[in-house]
Amino acid sequence: MKQKQMIKHHLTDKILMAYSAGQLSEAFNLIVATHISMCDECRAAMSSFDALGGALLENECLNGEPAPDLQATMALIKAETPPDRTPPPVRSTETPFPLVAYVGDNLDDVKWKPVGMGVKQSILQTSAEATARLLYIPAGVAVPDHGHHGTELTLVLRGAYSDETDHFKRGDVEIAGEDLHHTPIADAHSDCICLAVTDAPLKFSGVLPRILQPLLRI
Ligand code: ZN
Ligand code: ZN
Repeated sequence: MKQKQMIKHHLTDKILMAYSAGQLSEAFNLIVATHISMCDECRAAMSSFDALGGALLENECLNGEPAPDLQATMALIKAETPPDRTPPPVRSTETPFPLVAYVGDNLDDVKWKPVGMGVKQSILQTSAEATARLLYIPAGVAVPDHGHHGTELTLVLRGAYSDETDHFKRGDVEIAGEDLHHTPIADAHSDCICLAVTDAPLKFSGVLPRILQPLLRI
């Protein structure tokens, strides 16, 4: 029997399209690929965008004419089989396969650096336009409240957390923009590990986090 998908918070079409078109930085590519590997819904949407991109390209190449309108193309590709995306290998570990090259096979083997208040991080090696990190938030602990200069995507890998907007469990991705100010708090019963990607520094309200910020590259 197919396992029921419990993922509630997904990527936007805009992000999926940008990924499909190859417009994202390495860090954002990584978090999108990781969510897609965990989420049937976004994987299906991605297949459509891939097919759409392919159909537009093909049309342009064959006819040398401007691309047809979006609806006609969508209708066309709905009738076709989406291109083959290599299906994710079946894995029994909790590390989704796109992440393995960056963090290794086992989240328990990650080399953490303390950030304060028991929160730990591990910055991943990606190109410099955006930053990807694993965050370890002990059960019941809050990440200092902050706003965002750019976009922050947070994907839960273990445990769960809540903020002012909702509750986020494994596979859920939170999209935080400049209009959101939040205080993520790990659930009381288990530690939380997230993959967090940012394209600009966060805006901390507290003085101490602000002083430590350059040091921690948050
Ligand atoms: Zn999804
Ligand atoms: Zn945030």
